Amino acid sequence: MSREREIGKSAWIGVFWGVGHTLTIFAVGAGIDEAAQATLAGSLGMQLVRLTVPWQPGQTVPDPATVSSLESVPSSTGLVLELNAAQMPDDEAGRAALSQYAASLARQAPSLRDLVLTPAPSAATASGYADAVAAVRAGVVALRSDVAVGPFFDGSTWPNLLAGGIGGARFLAGVRATGADVTAVVNVGDDVTLHGLRICPDLDSVMYTLGGGADRQRGWGRAGETWVVKEELAAYGAEPTWFGLGDRDVATHLVRTRMLDAGYPLSAVTEALCARWQPGIRLLPATDDRMETHVVVGDPDRAIHFQEWWIRYRAKLPARRFVFVGAEGAKPAPGVLDALAEADVVLVAPSNPVVSIAPILAVAPLREALVSGPAKVVGVSPIIGGAPVRGMADRCLRAVDVPCTAAGVGGLYGARSAGGILDGWLVDPTDAGTAVDGVRVATCPLLMSDQTATVAMVRAALELG
Ligand code: GDP
Ligand code: CA
Repeated sequence: MSREREIGKSAWIGVFWGVGHTLTIFAVGAGIDEAAQATLAGSLGMQLVRLTVPWQPGQTVPDPATVSSLESVPSSTGLVLELNAAQMPDDEAGRAALSQYAASLARQAPSLRDLVLTPAPSAATASGYADAVAAVRAGVVALRSDVAVGPFFDGSTWPNLLAGGIGGARFLAGVRATGADVTAVVNVGDDVTLHGLRICPDLDSVMYTLGGGADRQRGWGRAGETWVVKEELAAYGAEPTWFGLGDRDVATHLVRTRMLDAGYPLSAVTEALCARWQPGIRLLPATDDRMETHVVVGDPDRAIHFQEWWIRYRAKLPARRFVFVGAEGAKPAPGVLDALAEADVVLVAPSNPVVSIAPILAVAPLREALVSGPAKVVGVSPIIGGAPVRGMADRCLRAVDVPCTAAGVGGLYGARSAGGILDGWLVDPTDAGTAVDGVRVATCPLLMSDQTATVAMVRAALELG
């Protein structure tokens, strides 16, 4: 009675035949491709109806408006319901109410074939979301075993994300809230050894942010941080003194350095650190090989480490170019190529394109896998209205002669069809009208002001995939 096929590589489409040629098509996975569903339904001479029904915490039966829209669907038509929970239930009583609500939907809509639970922004953890899906499923299958119930993402989908530090970390929090299985491939170009400690700022930003340990105001490092070690190092005159090394943070670097010295690769070390932080996603460095971003400045040319240029000089020394030392010959970390091969969609986070995303792409086999891989690649602009939202990306873009605009960055990434990396490019409404040759461009408010806004961005990006 059912078969599955893949459409556009971005969504799994299940096709169900019911009694009397009723048909429902449902899409789970990254990106619900409505056009593809409609085409498939049309080619089979079927009609497809898709409705979104709201659920408020505690609600056990649909409101009158929902009931009347359910009644207006002819019984011979396949019905897809997207159950949109304003807030995910976080206790047994809440899940019981959601379960009852789902059961009453199944009772009142005989044509129902598929029910998809749309993640609410407040579904902070994938596990909470999975529990809510289980509650919906329990409510429905008792009455209707023929109805397919699923999450917005199913477990087989692997959105994959390329990310730098804080822009990437905030975006990732939104991706995680959708309940998807996510692998984040993170920049290591910022990594540096100071005072004998190996420091990985971008991996740590993601790990602390998703693990609930980040300082949100400062935008980097640990919440509740103290600075005794930094002061004591300065008292010895131990250089460099410009790098913010917090006491809590130092413990992370001590554990990492010790493991690296013992011979563990960075990917294994990262996994070990994540055992404490439980970020809820798989975190992979782009490469286990040592690769660092250096900046060529001054006349005559001299190269300084990216961290020195960024933090000590606040990116004010004019940069001539960026060099990814060690990129040549660097291999993707274990798991990176598999994740790219399995991904339904790859999202490029709104990270700094020049010093966060470019060093990831500088790992040649990784870039090759992205360019020629099966998954659609959708980027999210880090530039809104000609300015980076936070940070100094404008200074980096100037150094590589790229305009600090959504179109400039989209053009820098380029279309996959022309050897670049993008299929889709998401820009802010301020930048409506942005065009990038060979790339589908869509708009969505891109300010990650809170989780609701970030989840909306993620969904818009997935729909482009
Ligand atoms: P870093 O390594 O900590 O600098 O972090 P990333 O490279 O991941 O992110 C920095 C970039 O994120 C900046 O260049 C900003 O342009 C971008 N960014 C920060 N906040 C936002 C936001 O709310 N929306 C968007 N679209 N971009 C943002
Ligand atoms: Ca960074």
